[in-house]
Amino acid sequence: MKFIEVENIEDGLKKVTDNKIFAYAGSLVGIAYNLQNRFAGELKIAGKIGENWPLSNGVRNDDLILLNIMQKAINSVTKEQRKEILNKWFSIKYENGIDYTMLYQLLTVFLLILGIVSYFYNQKRRLHFELEVAYKKLEKLAVTDKLTGLYNRHKTDEILVNQKELSNRYENSFGVILLDIDHFKNINDSFGHNIGDKVLKTFARILKRNTRTTDFIGRWGGEEFLIIVPQTEKKSIIKFANMLKEAIESYEFPEVKNATSSFGVTLYKDNESLDTTLVRVDEALYQAKKEGRNQVIYK
Ligand code: GH3
Ligand code: MG
Ligand code: MG
Repeated sequence: MKFIEVENIEDGLKKVTDNKIFAYAGSLVGIAYNLQNRFAGELKIAGKIGENWPLSNGVRNDDLILLNIMQKAINSVTKEQRKEILNKWFSIKYENGIDYTMLYQLLTVFLLILGIVSYFYNQKRRLHFELEVAYKKLEKLAVTDKLTGLYNRHKTDEILVNQKELSNRYENSFGVILLDIDHFKNINDSFGHNIGDKVLKTFARILKRNTRTTDFIGRWGGEEFLIIVPQTEKKSIIKFANMLKEAIESYEFPEVKNATSSFGVTLYKDNESLDTTLVRVDEALYQAKKEGRNQVIYK
């Protein structure tokens, strides 16, 4: 630290104001008085050093009476009065340590930036989420039959290919059930196309309710449904198809009352083509129709 001597308080404070020196050190009382009267608003008291400067009033040493009078006068001034006198001359406001305005300004800017960034981040996340929802919806739409909510033909084909691969790899068979509503044309003709649609929807619901979550149900054509049953064998798939047949024939449809369907059933045979499997199940269904409908034929 480099110390520079100045003429007086005013000179010292002026040099601080003019940026010629960094700080002025002096008696608080004098500085405060000057700050108030000459440098108001320009300077401030930044700190205090642990020094005391006891001041005294003196009188001539041959005038004892005056000394006594002065001493009495000083003694008669109470603490409160002293404070009052001081306050009349100056008021001090200490501003200790760091200048917080700068910090607050920085903090405000920081919070503002943080706010903007988090706003855009949230916006991006929301859009991303919406996009994901829309994508999932689209994905579902692409594989779903609009009327029944079952898998559409395209997806059913895909599942068949997938099951065939699994079946070849793990040497277990999957079963296929093809069912066709009996005399559906009559339902349409007697009750109208809308009721026909309603029957199709109800069929889908009955099938869904009576299959396991591991089974796949697809709308194969107009009033034909294909059910894919993974890891099954002859006896259980025939039983399963019969259970479906009974669930349908015992169901009371609101307008149509009764409806039945015929079932073709088969198992995928090791390494055969899917076409072969599908021709076989179709033949089974054809036979079920030919032999009187509302029955299950296994081939
Ligand atoms: P079968 O017992 O031999 O199967 O007789 P069917 O009358 O059910 O057979 P057919 O194939 O002659 O008739 C099927 C009918 O299904 C004809 C068609 O108008 C109707 N159909 C196909 N798709 C839909 C649909 O989405 N809604 C409605 N309401 N009818 C449909
Ligand atoms: Mg048909
Ligand atoms: Mg039919």
